[in-house]
Amino acid sequence: MTIRVKSYAKINWALDVLFKREDGYHELRTIYQTVSLHDNLIMSKTDSAIEIICDDARVPCDETNLVYKAAVKLRQATGVESGARIEIEKRIPVAAGMGGGSSNAAATLLGLEKLWQVSIDESQRFDIAASLGSDVPLFFMGGTLLGIGRGEEVYPLEEVECASLLLVNPVIHVSTATAYSSLRRLTREASPRKIPFTFFAAKGIRELPLVARNDFEEVVLVTHPEIAEVKERLQRLGAKLALMSGSGSTVFAVFDNLKTSERAQLEMRAFGYWAELARTVGRKEYQSSIFE
Ligand code: ATP
Repeated sequence: MTIRVKSYAKINWALDVLFKREDGYHELRTIYQTVSLHDNLIMSKTDSAIEIICDDARVPCDETNLVYKAAVKLRQATGVESGARIEIEKRIPVAAGMGGGSSNAAATLLGLEKLWQVSIDESQRFDIAASLGSDVPLFFMGGTLLGIGRGEEVYPLEEVECASLLLVNPVIHVSTATAYSSLRRLTREASPRKIPFTFFAAKGIRELPLVARNDFEEVVLVTHPEIAEVKERLQRLGAKLALMSGSGSTVFAVFDNLKTSERAQLEMRAFGYWAELARTVGRKEYQSSIFE
């Protein structure tokens, strides 16, 4: 038996870092959105080994891969003895703020439950996911989601729809750890009561793309001017919004129509950037299309 799972990417319409908690994590308020760009995971059973294969050399295929970690944790939780061979067709840029590894981990848990014919309850699945990373649980639900805590606690929101998104990556690496440590300075002075809900409380969630923001931009754009340049170029090409996703380095842009976004894609590629067209994937479509 072979199981194919679509592992979608996410963007953040909004990302507020409130303060550093006593456990060392930052308290976030974020609005996640799943988008059509996705990796594919192809899984088949083995006697006992967990084997990872990936077509992107930047992805480690050892026990540090989140897919590997997810498989081991599921095996421990269920007592299954079988193994799996998991092939990752990587389409989501690596370490780029689009949750690629996290999405792969969630897709692995869902896929292996089918492959191994085991089931775990929702709270157990959530605990495994949250232990793998703050951005993992969102990928069980998909669509437009509010993320609180360190981002692991997610709630469905009214869906934001956008048919003409352009995802652009300047192919530079931004260290999430450095981004957070630079923010520490910022959050020390910021009000811990800063809450992004005023964005859509005032404007209505349908207008969210117009009021989106990301706290990380303030620190990351200074150290990585290439990202600021991407934003400026996208705006010049007619983007209604160009915002960094997560802690970078991908910038997503919202366009009025497909034609303008396609033209912008060509221009951005001509500058040497990775640039892919995408659209939002709502919860219903997300959940019904994970397994092909
Ligand atoms: P997030 O938005 O969740 O912070 P990201 O999109 O910035 O994540 P990922 O693509 O998840 O970043 O990759 C982060 C690091 O995780 C990479 O440097 C890579 O070495 C490692 N990694 C482990 N497993 C995977 C995987 N399955 N796919 C991609 N990267 C992985």
